Amino acid sequence: MATSQAKDTKSSGSGKSVAIVGGGVSGLTAAYKLKSKGVKVILFESEGYAGGKIRSNSENGFLWDEGANTMTESEKEVGRLIDELNIRDKQQFPLSQHKRYIVRNGKPELIPSDPISLIKSSILSTQSKLKLLMEPFMWRSSDQKSSAKVSDEYSKESVRSFFQRHFGKEVVDYLIDPFVAGTSGGDPDSLYKPYAFPELWDLEKKYGSIIAGAILSKLKAKSSDKGEKNTSVKKRNTRASFSFHGGMQVLIDSLSKEVGGDNLKLNSKVLSLAYNYEAKSPSGTCSIACGTRNPGTKDITRKQSFDAVIMTAPVSSVQEMKFSLGRSPFVLDFLPKVSYLPFSLLVTAFKKESVQRPLEGFGVLVPSIEQKNELKTLGTLFSSMMFPDRAPSDQYLYTTFIGGSRNRDLAGAPLHVLKEMVTADLKNLLGAEGEPTFIKHIHWKNAFPLYDKDYNLVLEAIGKMEKSLPGFFYAGNNKDGLAVGKAITSGSKVAELVMSYLDNKS
Ligand code: FAD
Repeated sequence: MATSQAKDTKSSGSGKSVAIVGGGVSGLTAAYKLKSKGVKVILFESEGYAGGKIRSNSENGFLWDEGANTMTESEKEVGRLIDELNIRDKQQFPLSQHKRYIVRNGKPELIPSDPISLIKSSILSTQSKLKLLMEPFMWRSSDQKSSAKVSDEYSKESVRSFFQRHFGKEVVDYLIDPFVAGTSGGDPDSLYKPYAFPELWDLEKKYGSIIAGAILSKLKAKSSDKGEKNTSVKKRNTRASFSFHGGMQVLIDSLSKEVGGDNLKLNSKVLSLAYNYEAKSPSGTCSIACGTRNPGTKDITRKQSFDAVIMTAPVSSVQEMKFSLGRSPFVLDFLPKVSYLPFSLLVTAFKKESVQRPLEGFGVLVPSIEQKNELKTLGTLFSSMMFPDRAPSDQYLYTTFIGGSRNRDLAGAPLHVLKEMVTADLKNLLGAEGEPTFIKHIHWKNAFPLYDKDYNLVLEAIGKMEKSLPGFFYAGNNKDGLAVGKAITSGSKVAELVMSYLDNKS
């Protein structure tokens, strides 16, 4: 049950109704927040389950995540939500989470976590280490590269170019490339800095140096935290990754419970949105039609009217919907096509005695440059090293990622091909011998939107829809960032915007 602080006194939102399209974590968060303010919410989800890209599963003593595996509390909205949902005691932190590995010359190498271990590490050449250590001095905002100049000159640049300017090519090849492939499926050449790393872009504009900026903004955050009354918030490491006892599904189940079964319309694909709009009263209502898939019966289409709509379905799904404004069709020809990156996940288990070089820690990432060493996967999470209760005690559980922009075709390969690839990589990297004792394959055709060079056109088009359609709001990972924390923040913020829209409407 949510704490009383979330169950706010009813505001002017009460009596109003809001439709939320999409039951991923952003839509669920928005629905939960609005409901706690007394707004009537109906959430439409096309699949037979809520959660979108967050889904846990279990079988034979194994528990695994099929989408997001962990999240962080970097955004304050995440911490608030966890407290409101009363699931703080269910948080599960990975063992040895700071031990993360990158493959170099075919072997996993520990990623250094501080300047001393960086100097000792063999992950980078001496020249690149020096470049990293010197970055705060080379990129001071007082230099000729003043923030205004930086912002102007580099406002649209690829992730490769951004990090290469600051740290050099080797850092991009061995640290940035595997990181972006593992977290977004993208690659440093196709991803664009303003959309993929907006916070780092802001740091550069403000401080010149990314490293100095990160340190200074952390210190600033610490000193502003001193004013915080709640000491437990101060002590928490908000950048630490975590899941929940029972997997990421715990978050989805808690949100779904709060939204309430009657308000959650599963198997309900939104097909059209008709805005009843009159120039005299510009805050019209929206009538939503959705096809309901009822197993065993004929598909039916339902229509319902709402004061506002929050869209969290991917842009590709929005493009399949029909919109009308007043009596005219509202054609979405100005909304560009988004490119989505496909992913396959292979969950495998091996008897502990079959793994010659098991590594403690979070997981290993494979830079694309290491494909020359016959490695085809993007990376592997050491699932049961992180969370030992997720596998029988005599086995190791692994989650391996394949595909992304590096290997689009491989993401869709059949299971026997993927299995061969994954077992070969696990043998090379960890010495896992023989056949896995357990295997599950999950394929995400459209795992991540690619924040590429022209993503600003997508964001502008979303802005145009919000401006033109009364009470239409867009949220979720096609707009506000890929991480779970960003999707939660997007859902929380859009709920606030809708509340003030409803306040003004009444
Ligand atoms: P979604 O989860 O995509 O939700 C959108 C919902 O809209 C879906 O449920 C969909 O079925 C529904 N929908 C679509 N069309 C319609 C329609 N016409 N009518 C009704 N409903 C519709 N993030 C992390 O922070 N950490 C990780 O470890 C991590 N790992 C990931 C691993 C994988 C394999 C994937 C795919 C993602 C991962 N992410 C991770 C990213 C993160 O999970 C997502 O960005 C986030 O969950 C997106 O939430 P969302 O609500 O914005 O979108």
